[in-house]
Amino acid sequence: MELRQLKIAQPELVSAVDMQIALIEMQRRVQSRVPLPWIQMDLEWLRAQHRAGRPIVRFRDLPIDWTDFRLALRQTADILRRFDALERADHDQIIALGREGHALEPLVADWYDRTAGLREVDPAAATQAPAGLDHVLVLALRPFLARSTESLAQQIDVSGWSRGICPFCGWEPDFAVITPGADRRLICGRCLAQWNFAPLDCPFCGNDDRTQVTSFATRDGRYRVYGCDVCHRYLKAYDARHAARPVMVTVDSIATLPLDAAAMQRGYA
Ligand SMILES: [Zn+2]
Ligand SMILES: [Zn+2]
Repeated sequence: MELRQLKIAQPELVSAVDMQIALIEMQRRVQSRVPLPWIQMDLEWLRAQHRAGRPIVRFRDLPIDWTDFRLALRQTADILRRFDALERADHDQIIALGREGHALEPLVADWYDRTAGLREVDPAAATQAPAGLDHVLVLALRPFLARSTESLAQQIDVSGWSRGICPFCGWEPDFAVITPGADRRLICGRCLAQWNFAPLDCPFCGNDDRTQVTSFATRDGRYRVYGCDVCHRYLKAYDARHAARPVMVTVDSIATLPLDAAAMQRGYA
């Protein structure tokens, strides 16, 4: 409903909103079939990993049904292609990957553990992959991963986590929310988990010099951008301090697409 209202308020975002709705509907269909994963996880091991400052969700802990995953992969690639967010050649290559019986599983497992910081990076593996594969894998894996982190967040206290990467899956934050208490919570770009982070530090490079962070808000005060003047990356946030509703990352990330352009104009990436 929020997304449909956004289409009326900002007609230039219609295509982005329609793509987001298609992705959400696909992810909901898949997620409704994913079983609760934490039952088979070793909570003591997870807590020890967490105390050591490492992300806790390993690929083999995810409750993946490969028939469902293949479907999610194919439908994600089709949706991105339909909205011109994926080149045809890359789309075809990803669809072919999904059909290769035994190649897909190790590829996804390796990609996940590598990007979770649980395994050494092999640069060769990254260069052979079709462009856009990261984007498709993030979205196709989300129903399985989000189900896991949702239930784990109730089992494991991550309030002491102070790193810039996700305490569950090791991915980078993609968005943030300023809470009514003026804390800043980062939101994982892969599993959507949230964790507290210093309000003005840069999560990407660790820069904690306030004079080296440029922050600006939208005119209505709803959203804010933090640009780091050390690594030149930026992060968008929803300001919930005076807001009528809590953050809705699937809506707010689309509503702030014009802010991406503004941040890039200022030289942030
Ligand atoms: Zn995550
Ligand atoms: Zn930085």
